[in-house]
Amino acid sequence: MSFGAAASVPRGRRLNAQAPCPCGGAEFGSCCGPVLAGADARDPEALMRSRYTAFALGDVRHLRDTWSPRTRPDDVGVDTDTDWLGLTVEASSAAGDEGRVSFRARWRDRRTGESGTLSEHSRFQRHSGRWYYVEAV
Ligand SMILES: [Zn+2]
Repeated sequence: MSFGAAASVPRGRRLNAQAPCPCGGAEFGSCCGPVLAGADARDPEALMRSRYTAFALGDVRHLRDTWSPRTRPDDVGVDTDTDWLGLTVEASSAAGDEGRVSFRARWRDRRTGESGTLSEHSRFQRHSGRWYYVEAV
């Protein structure tokens, strides 16, 4: 799966439902939009995509709300100098209340012009029917 066409989105802007989702999925209104608005993510990949989109949009509240209270830092923030340019989900799985997602995310530092790719294997857990990000493994 490739989402290389996803464009950089100005931070702090609310997307309309028809806009292409920053995660590379379908329209925002049928992809990450409902999850960012508080709906339960149906699986770990959907939650991971919504968190990528939250990073791209600077939605700190969503990042905090979907981070396991056990591993969440006291001060959740986003690096305002980093633009997130595209997401590729390489693998995702869920077994019971445990989930894993492997992905690559392309970024660019607006200040230095430097760019690169972040690769991460993320672990997720479900509590009371909701998925939470736990940690990178
Ligand atoms: Zn999305």
